[in-house]
Amino acid sequence: MKSAVFYGKHDLRVEESKKPEIGPKDVLIQVKACGVCGTDVHIYEGDKGAAEVTPPTILGHEFSGVVAQTGAEVVNCKVGDRVCIDPNCYCGTCEPCRNGAAHYCENMIGYGTTVNGGFAEYCAVNERQVYLLGENTTFEQGAMAEPVACCLHGIDMCEIQPGHQVVVIGGGMIGLLMMQLANLAGAAKVALLEPVENKREVAKKLGADICIDPIKEDVQAVLKAAGMTWINTVIECVGRPSTIRQAIDIAGNKAVVMMFGLTKPDETIQVKPFEVFQKELVLKASFINPYTQKRALDLIDTRRLDVSSMIYEVCGLENLEGVLSKPELRANGKYIISPEK
Ligand SMILES: [Zn+2]
Ligand SMILES: [Zn+2]
Repeated sequence: MKSAVFYGKHDLRVEESKKPEIGPKDVLIQVKACGVCGTDVHIYEGDKGAAEVTPPTILGHEFSGVVAQTGAEVVNCKVGDRVCIDPNCYCGTCEPCRNGAAHYCENMIGYGTTVNGGFAEYCAVNERQVYLLGENTTFEQGAMAEPVACCLHGIDMCEIQPGHQVVVIGGGMIGLLMMQLANLAGAAKVALLEPVENKREVAKKLGADICIDPIKEDVQAVLKAAGMTWINTVIECVGRPSTIRQAIDIAGNKAVVMMFGLTKPDETIQVKPFEVFQKELVLKASFINPYTQKRALDLIDTRRLDVSSMIYEVCGLENLEGVLSKPELRANGKYIISPEK
């Protein structure tokens, strides 16, 4: 089968690999769409602290496709089903798994990170990871279920209540998802901070009440003018020290500051404990996607959540390395790889 194999930093090769064999509990998926994620970029760049990968490995953890074959003991799906996967497979027996925190599983298998993933024509996964796509959900939308599931875990931790005021920093794919989820969680007003004009336009279309250019405009003044005088939640979706700092500045009394954007592992920020004390701030971060995949799929299938507006292009495996190596391409929006292209 055709596959894109990661051999090490800046070394990705599109080549022929052996079609995976399946065990009794496995499902062979013919991949139709696989999202290119920031994690893939970190791996390609050889960043330390990125997901554990032992090359050669087929990357790609955000994928959907059609069930091509099932193991003898598989009961949850059948050949021909349209499905997507939760790439993080938990053991069920270690201490975190037995204490309701399976996303800290000590024996986690990650499809597309610790084992082969979806940048290939086929991928074999344990049936526990397989979810059926709803009838309104396309393969591209199904490939978005994993990032949505990660955002849902984050939005749950924000504890947004009906009527809250929320600021989202960053209008990339994650920021646009978070902005919509904040609305779905009951926010009365959501503001988005984003310097790129066309991303602000998309955010407006997707339900942002106000969009602010944080470089050209006085953020605090615009928020105040819009009646956003007590920001209950700030969701940082950029992953830079300066924007995390900004999130802390904007946050109102008793606010939750969600640091959702991923910084480099050894990056630091300066925080005055007195400021945290004065405002009773709650600084939070959220890690991967425990127990949220089905909710993500339902939000996509019912069209409560728009995951299509942020998809920029669907392209073939040959284009993957270009997308991974060129930030100016990724700035356009989300790229989805279709191995059939
Ligand atoms: Zn991802
Ligand atoms: Zn475990």
